[in-house]
Amino acid sequence: MTKEELMRKAIALSIENLNQDGGPFGAVIAKDGEILATGVNRVTDSCDPTAHAEVSAIRNAAKKLGTFDLSGYEIYSSCEPCPMCLGAIYWARLDKLYYGNTKEDAKVIGFDDSFIYEELELKKEDRKLKSEELLGKEALEAFNIWAKKEDKTEY
Ligand SMILES: [Zn+2]
Repeated sequence: MTKEELMRKAIALSIENLNQDGGPFGAVIAKDGEILATGVNRVTDSCDPTAHAEVSAIRNAAKKLGTFDLSGYEIYSSCEPCPMCLGAIYWARLDKLYYGNTKEDAKVIGFDDSFIYEELELKKEDRKLKSEELLGKEALEAFNIWAKKEDKTEY
C-alpha cells in the first residue's frame, strides 16, 4: 500500500469507529506498505483515558511482534497526536509519523490538547497539576537494585 492508502485506512477507521460509539480517531502501524496493526479511540466504552488510537495501535503492534521496540515501522494517525501519544510514539521507537487532521482541526470539534502542550512549557510549580517530591530516598531502592541487576532487559 502507498502512504496515501495507509492514511486512508487510518481515516476510514476513524469514521467506522463513530458507529461503534468511539471517538473520531484511527491509526495504522505499517512497514514497507504492509499493515502490522491498527487502533481506534476506545476511551469512553473501555473506561480507559489512555485508549487513544495511536496508543491502541502501538499496543496491538507490540503484542503482535512480541517486542516493545517498533523501530522500522511507521504510524499513520488520522489526527496529529496528543502529547501522550506523541510520547508513546517515541517510546515505541517508531521511525516516522504521518497525520491527517491537525491539532487545530481537533480543537474545533472539542478535542483540545493544547493545554497539555502549554503545561509542558511551564516550570513544575506553575503547572495546574500540583506535584510534590515525596519519599525519594525510599523510592530510590528500586533504582539501586535495577542498576546492579545483571539479568535485566534494557529498554
Ligand atoms: Zn492521544
